[in-house]
Amino acid sequence: MQSAEQRAFLAAALAWTRRPEERHAVRMLQSPFSGVPQDLGAAYAALSASKGGLLDRLAQERSLAPFAVALRELEKIGDGETARQEIVRRFQLEADVRPPVPVERSELTLCEPAVPEPRLGMRATRPRFSASQLNAYVECPRKWFYRYMCGAVEDKGSSASFYGTAFHAALEALHGEFPRPGDADPAELSLKLEGLVNSAFDRHRNNFETPVEYELQRRRAQRTAKKYVEWLLAEAKRASFTVVGCELSAELEMEGYEFIGYIDRLDRDDKTGAVAVIDYKTGTIATSAAEYREKIRQFKDFQLPFYYWARTAEGDKVWKLALLPLKDALLDVQPIVLEVVPVPSEIGRSHSATGVIPLGELERARGRMIEICAELTAGTTTAFAVTSDPSACMYCAYAVACADRPYPPDQRFGR
Ligand code: SF4
Repeated sequence: MQSAEQRAFLAAALAWTRRPEERHAVRMLQSPFSGVPQDLGAAYAALSASKGGLLDRLAQERSLAPFAVALRELEKIGDGETARQEIVRRFQLEADVRPPVPVERSELTLCEPAVPEPRLGMRATRPRFSASQLNAYVECPRKWFYRYMCGAVEDKGSSASFYGTAFHAALEALHGEFPRPGDADPAELSLKLEGLVNSAFDRHRNNFETPVEYELQRRRAQRTAKKYVEWLLAEAKRASFTVVGCELSAELEMEGYEFIGYIDRLDRDDKTGAVAVIDYKTGTIATSAAEYREKIRQFKDFQLPFYYWARTAEGDKVWKLALLPLKDALLDVQPIVLEVVPVPSEIGRSHSATGVIPLGELERARGRMIEICAELTAGTTTAFAVTSDPSACMYCAYAVACADRPYPPDQRFGR
């Protein structure tokens, strides 16, 4: 008796005899009954998806030429029982000897189960990638699939995300007006940011779920804004700088893949001319420079490496990458800073907020970004794995649809 896989192959081959469209040939090619080694089949299926011309390509590859010949001959055979027998003979399928089961027809008679189609590869269709897209993929490929391939859930935002949006807008306006914070009057700077925070939150007032939530988040931002100004002035005193861009578009092509992002703030050191990339963070971040560097080393975060390469391509000498925490109104603003160094350096166990990152590690991150883009556009992935880290699912918008998600150890037996 034929297995489901054999029946799927037969169905694809019969479809090919009826209408020789490349998609039917690809389904056959990906089946073990095609006689084509699985890796070759997957590679040619991917080529077919991106460039077409499958039959000509198969004919040029000596080991695949017999399969191409078989397809050509099946094209001429017509459909029906003759075609079915020829496919069974040619691809050495088992004859389907199931005796017809006499069924008594009634209103409750079930129909024959449908033969599942072989899975086809999927590939990213968006022309551009972003660091956050790649971060989502490495955190959980299934989440990436839901978000970037299916657009499964409309993200309506949360009070945390509106807090971030409003705070970013206020800081952008502040630095547009005061690009050299060291030259500004501290009281004026502080008052200005207070007003900008109020007006930015006012624009988002209706996005917060309740007036109380709005007010709480606005007050949190006001307290954080004061700490931000204190930090800004101390920084400017230490080494004067000019803010040369806020929400700056960063575009870069790497080996044929286009990337886009927005840099929250770009500072130029007045003395050396080197630039620092600053990323505002209103959520949870690494607590030390070593921890953040480790995330980059493990290819879990591509954001600042991407900005590094984008600005370097623009001709800047980037000397510093920094994450600026704006989440906790009770703590002083203390950025996590990585200074870019040209030579390898051991990663320390220090809890310090400042550290270094060797250029080689930024190059490795760039290489991995390109590899991921190649994976996502190859069209050979037929299923996107779920993460093994249950904490990634905690705030995932797709959790309700994701039956395979991992559960925290203490909940595994409560499912
Ligand atoms: S619920 Fe978890 S496993 Fe499922 S998509 Fe979200 S992060 Fe991935």
